[in-house]
Amino acid sequence: MAKKIVLKRSKRRRRNRKTPIIKLIGVFILVVFVVWVIVAAPFKTTKVADEVLHGNVKEKINFSPQEGDYIQTGKTITYDATLVCRGLFGKEVALGAKGNELVITVEENKLKNKVDINKNKIKISNSVTSGTPISVRVSYKNQSKTYKYTVRDDLKKKIGEDMFVKNPKEYDCVVNKKRHVSSDYEPDDLVYPDVDYAQTNKTVRQMRKKAARALEDLFKGARENDYIFFAVSGYRPYNMQESIHTSQIREYGSEEEANKYSAKAGESEHQLGLSMDVSINSLSYKLTEELADTDEGKWLAENCHKYGFIIRFPKGKESITGYNYEPWHVRYVGKDLAKLIHDNDLTLEEYFEL
Ligand SMILES: [Zn+2]
Repeated sequence: MAKKIVLKRSKRRRRNRKTPIIKLIGVFILVVFVVWVIVAAPFKTTKVADEVLHGNVKEKINFSPQEGDYIQTGKTITYDATLVCRGLFGKEVALGAKGNELVITVEENKLKNKVDINKNKIKISNSVTSGTPISVRVSYKNQSKTYKYTVRDDLKKKIGEDMFVKNPKEYDCVVNKKRHVSSDYEPDDLVYPDVDYAQTNKTVRQMRKKAARALEDLFKGARENDYIFFAVSGYRPYNMQESIHTSQIREYGSEEEANKYSAKAGESEHQLGLSMDVSINSLSYKLTEELADTDEGKWLAENCHKYGFIIRFPKGKESITGYNYEPWHVRYVGKDLAKLIHDNDLTLEEYFEL
């Protein structure tokens, strides 16, 4: 008998020890539930577009397109926003914004009158140079998203069946063996850059005004490093290019061979007035690949972008540009585009094909 009593007692004691733990868990669950009811408000309902959402509704705005690196001139971009309301248990209702509810602003003041904003659509004027950075801010309700783009020309639109470029006046115009300048194109703002020349022909001393000023700065910058450049050949009118090419064919023996070094009339960007062939005294002012091995040539390749120029026909890109390496030929494209092309090791052609 005594044994049995002892057993019963010990069982009761154990049961007594369990009770507070169960109680504690019960209280904890209750507290959690109360907190959840307060925070998530499961009994609260909100009507969003005829749908009933439970709990506290969370709002999020999704903008589209999601991202974008480049913005093409002349092309319309449409922005949209969707307000997503999310209720308890993950139920969502999406509400699209109306076009006129979106507010679009361009952050760069100088670009404001070159961007056509119509409700939720924007279009960049063709006059904006490729490589220009632009920030477009799209706002809806109390949220906004800023798109950071680089402007790029739509190359295909700028050329007709005849292969003539329609934008020879633009600083980012691409002229090559597939994109020609018409025989009657003559820039209307040619000037004589105030630089040292190794050239007596007055016509080819010229460049378009903006490019000429940039060339002056480039030569000045070089001089600060004791590198003295001479301008050899800049603007070349159609007829002049024609006679140069004819004499080159004679020199190289065939048209095919001559085409590697000199451009046919209409295929030379010298006609744009944005290029200059440069040389130095120690090379007897010749236009030669040896320039690349000189300190001057190295400086030019590394620094001309700071003044808005690119080495138009780089080494190793012959199949893309269609021309042999020309370390002496600098082309003005503007500082933004020049930096982009330099930093990414591109050619003008590759930039537009990205
Ligand atoms: Zn050249």
